[in-house]
Amino acid sequence: MTNILEEDYRDELRADSSQLIFPIVTGFVLVVCFGAILAANSLTASWPYVAYAVFSTVGNWFAWKLVKQGNQWAGGTLFSWGHMIMLTIMLVSTHEPGVVGPLPYVYGIFIIIGSMIIKPSSAFTNWAISMFLIALGTAYLGIWGAESFFTYLPSILINFSLAVVAYLTAIEWQTAVEATSFLHRRAQQRRDELFTIQGELGLTNARLQYLNEQLEVARHAAENERDLRTRFMNNVSHELRTPLNAIVNFAHILALGGRGPVTPEQIDYLKRVEQSGWHLLEILNDLLDMAQIESGEFKLHLETIHLYHVCEEAMTSTRGLLLDKNVELLRDYPSEWPLVQVDQMRLKQAFINLLGNAAKYTEEGYIALRVYPNGNTVKIIVEDTGIGIAPEHHETIFIEFRQIDDTAARKRIGTGLGLPITKHLIERHQGTLSVESGLGQGSKFTITLPIYQPVKEIVKQEPELETAV
Ligand code: ADP
Repeated sequence: MTNILEEDYRDELRADSSQLIFPIVTGFVLVVCFGAILAANSLTASWPYVAYAVFSTVGNWFAWKLVKQGNQWAGGTLFSWGHMIMLTIMLVSTHEPGVVGPLPYVYGIFIIIGSMIIKPSSAFTNWAISMFLIALGTAYLGIWGAESFFTYLPSILINFSLAVVAYLTAIEWQTAVEATSFLHRRAQQRRDELFTIQGELGLTNARLQYLNEQLEVARHAAENERDLRTRFMNNVSHELRTPLNAIVNFAHILALGGRGPVTPEQIDYLKRVEQSGWHLLEILNDLLDMAQIESGEFKLHLETIHLYHVCEEAMTSTRGLLLDKNVELLRDYPSEWPLVQVDQMRLKQAFINLLGNAAKYTEEGYIALRVYPNGNTVKIIVEDTGIGIAPEHHETIFIEFRQIDDTAARKRIGTGLGLPITKHLIERHQGTLSVESGLGQGSKFTITLPIYQPVKEIVKQEPELETAV
């Protein structure tokens, strides 16, 4: 199927051909006509040549103008038909009885030109016109009849063959033009698409750059804020810790009677002051730890130790929390203890957090610390028979400042930082922390830590030299 664009392209090519053919033919006709006029040496005697030269100049110029204005059909028709009419006039005026000159064959040129500059089928139209004009000429000369028909038959047949060849060639040329124009159009489409894509890419790039800049600004702002927060936390905790230590220590000394006798009631009050002070110090430490974790300043001091010592120290601290409770402290220890590479203080802190929580949320039953080495890892389980945690809270309890808003849980004071810090501590040791629990069913916190594997030293053995005797 041809489309408008292809037709346009074809017309453009035809117009180009016309621009080339018209001047050539005009030049050729003018040369022939002037030659004939000069040979005859008389303008009146050679009037048909004069007329042809005049038409060739004026008619061709006019046809050329029409084509230039885009009227391809009118220009082409005026050109080819005009020349054929002029040829017929020449044929009639130069006719000699019994002689058929070359003129009837010259029609063939305009049959071919017609198919090139008007359209392929114009070859046949022009051939029919040439036949009609020759017939008209013979009728004018009075030689109309079978005899003259046979005289002109060879030129008619040759002109017809030329029309067929011209038609086929023009069709082939048209197909080639269509194919070229199709490719041309595709290439243009691709180029347009590429331009659009290039434009879009440019836009996306600009947007990305803008976003990047925004992100950079946001990052700076966040970093500044984080630094400020860390500095603030460090300062505040330092400023609070010093007087708090003084309060705790002085309350302790006073309770012991270090500054004079105290009544049992005063001792009770002083102990409460001391306990609250310790609690506040714990909270402060948690806040400081969290601030360090968030700022990325949290550092570990790794050493290779027996896990037993850490477990026992944590258990000793927990015992003090259960003095006034009917809760048993159980140990389920392995016969052989593994070595672990850890920050002893920090790991103890993690264990104490879990055991402390168990003590906080358990009123009766037991709290067990179970240690199971298995292959490359060791499992440390803190199990209690306390109030338990509903499954929907299993994830939130590991998020900072999140506490379960449950009357039973809210009765105990806490910051909601213990578990997130513990999880971070364990993960920094390449371990994991998980929970299994249900409301009223106790809780089971499981830590998994890698066991320290000492790298076996490869001793290079020198090959024994054989000594020849
Ligand atoms: P908190 O300082 O409030 O104890 P944690 O981060 O240590 O903060 O614990 C978060 C919440 O998880 C607690 O408020 C409590 O509701 C729940 N929780 C933690 N351990 C236990 C436990 N052993 N038994 C029941 N609830 C627990």
